[in-house]
This record gives sequence, C-alpha cells and structure tokens, in this order.
Amino acid sequence: SIVVTGATGNLGRLVIEGLLEKVPAAQITAVVRSQEKAATFAARGVKIAIADYNAPETFDGLFSAGDKVLLISGNEFDKGRVGQHKVVIDAAKVAGVALLAYTSAPGSLTAALADDHRGTEAAIFESGVPYVLLRNGWYHEVYTEQLASVLQFNAVTQASGEGRVASAARADYAAAAVAVLTGEGHENKTYELNGDTAWSFAEYAAELSKQTGKQIGYNAVSVEEFNAILTGPAGLPEPFAAILCGVEVAVEKGELAGTSDDLSRLIGRPTTPIADSIAVALKD
Ligand code: NDP
Repeated sequence: SIVVTGATGNLGRLVIEGLLEKVPAAQITAVVRSQEKAATFAARGVKIAIADYNAPETFDGLFSAGDKVLLISGNEFDKGRVGQHKVVIDAAKVAGVALLAYTSAPGSLTAALADDHRGTEAAIFESGVPYVLLRNGWYHEVYTEQLASVLQFNAVTQASGEGRVASAARADYAAAAVAVLTGEGHENKTYELNGDTAWSFAEYAAELSKQTGKQIGYNAVSVEEFNAILTGPAGLPEPFAAILCGVEVAVEKGELAGTSDDLSRLIGRPTTPIADSIAVALKD
C-alpha cells in the first residue's frame, strides 16, 4: 500500500487526490486523526486509519512490509515534532516498509524552523529505513493566503529586505510526493524542492498591483517591527512569532532562494508561477 500521514491537511489532501489519479483507491491508506474529515476519501474507496503522532500505540501494526509511506511533518510546534515523527519512523522500521518519504525543509535553511526537520532527518538516517527526503521549499500559499491583510493596507509587509523566495504551489510539492510514491529508484535520495524562479517582495507587490489594479507596495520593515505586528495586531503567541521572524531573516540571507531543478524534474513540468497562485487567491 501507499500510506499517507497528515492526509486531511492541505498538502495531504492534494497528495491523496494525485494518488487517486494513478493507483486504485484500495491501494491507498490515509492516516488521519478525524474520521469525519476523511469522509470524502472513504467514500472514494481510500482506506482510512486513525492515528495520532502523540499516541505511539495508534501506529502499532498500521504499516505493512513493503508499504511506501509518506510522513507529512506535523504542525504542533509546541509538542516536540521530532519525537512525534519518531513514532512514525519507529513503526515504519518495525514493519519493514519499502520507502519512507518525509516532507522536510531546504538544506540551506538555518532558521529555528528547520531544527525539527534536521532532527527528523537524523532519526530517519539512524533508523536504516529506506528513505526519500522531500526538502520542500516555501509554498506560494504561505504568502497568497495572507492577501486579505495585504489588500486591507495596500502593502506587502515583510522583514526580508531584498531577499528572494523560490516558492512553488502546494500542488507542485504534492505532485512531487506522488511521483516519488508511485515511481521507482528514489530510495535514499534527497531532493531539494523549490520553484523554478525566485522572486522578491517588490516584484510580488508589483504583480499584486497588476492583477488588482491597485497601488500595492512593498513595506520593508525591521525584524523588530515585524515581530511587533505578529504579536500585536496579528495576535500570534511570542514563540511562534519568533519562528516566523527567523524565517524573515533566512529569506533576507537568501536561504530560500535556491533554484534546484529537482521539483520540475520530478513533476515533469515547470513549477506553477506565483502569478497563477495570486490569481487563484484573488478569486477566492
Ligand atoms: P496543514 O497544517 O494543513 O496539515 C498538517 C497535517 O498534520 C494535518 O493533516 C494534521 O492533521 C496533521 N497533524 C498535525 N499534528 C498531528 C498529530 N499529532 N498526529 C497526526 N497528524 C497530525 O499543513 P500543510 O498540509 O499545508 O503542510 C504540511 C506540513 O508542511 C505542515 O504540517 C508543516 O510541517 C509543513 N509546512 C510547510 C510549509 C512550506 O511552505 N513548505 C508551510 C506550512 C507548513 P489534522 O488534519 O487532523 O489537523
């Protein structure tokens, strides 16, 4: 079977959709926390397994020898994600899976956000399980899902200076995961996945202006000001704001600007231009 954790998340849903186009539904297992959230998959014949990274016993016997597993990294920053992911890695090892794919972070990323991913990669290497690292760069949607506040102030506010971001659509990363899970010869490979083109926030603001007919500028602020916005008006808890500020610094340093062609090669087409994802977001 092909088994996908985090299957009811944004990326996981796209992976399941992509798999359904390539393999029979009965060969796919969606690992989810909520049966209700998985109802549409179940209706299409996808097998559903209920498990939680915080409850190791829920992964007992979940995988079988020869399975190809996609471990989608969790989003509970305060719960020790490396430990959570180890639960899945241990279960994969015990079962003797054929492949464990993991959605990691770019190798160039030094921000604190990358620590959990480096820790998980180390645990995967140590386990000896055949792996593939999908070192996903940034999603376009990280930015295009913030358009409401951009349009409210007619400004793209970031603390990344002239830094560039080689982002790609979530759907591109999902297609890469599908290619790896349904293809051959990916064992023990590390893919640096990112968009084909790196853009700056000034260019992003210009594209938004073009598509909306408004004057939208890039408001480059300091990290301190950015942190004040996140913890003030945006209402984010301090520790999470600190993580996001670390990403701003990383972007300014060019750590998310790398343009490896691993993603377009895996999916067999160019990555989605940011302009396309902006157009989709403006329609919503
Ligand atoms: P989502 O937040 O939409 O999905 C996260 C998934 O992880 C959900 O399916 C969630 O389950 C599942 N999950 C969280 N905690 C647990 C747990 N304790 N046990 C089992 N499952 C759990 O994120 P995306 O799908 O958009 O992205 C996937 C991952 O990629 C994120 O979790 C994050 O690690 C990373 N990411 C990468 C970004 C990038 O730009 N490269 C941007 C944002 C995140 P449930 O559906 O039940 O909530």
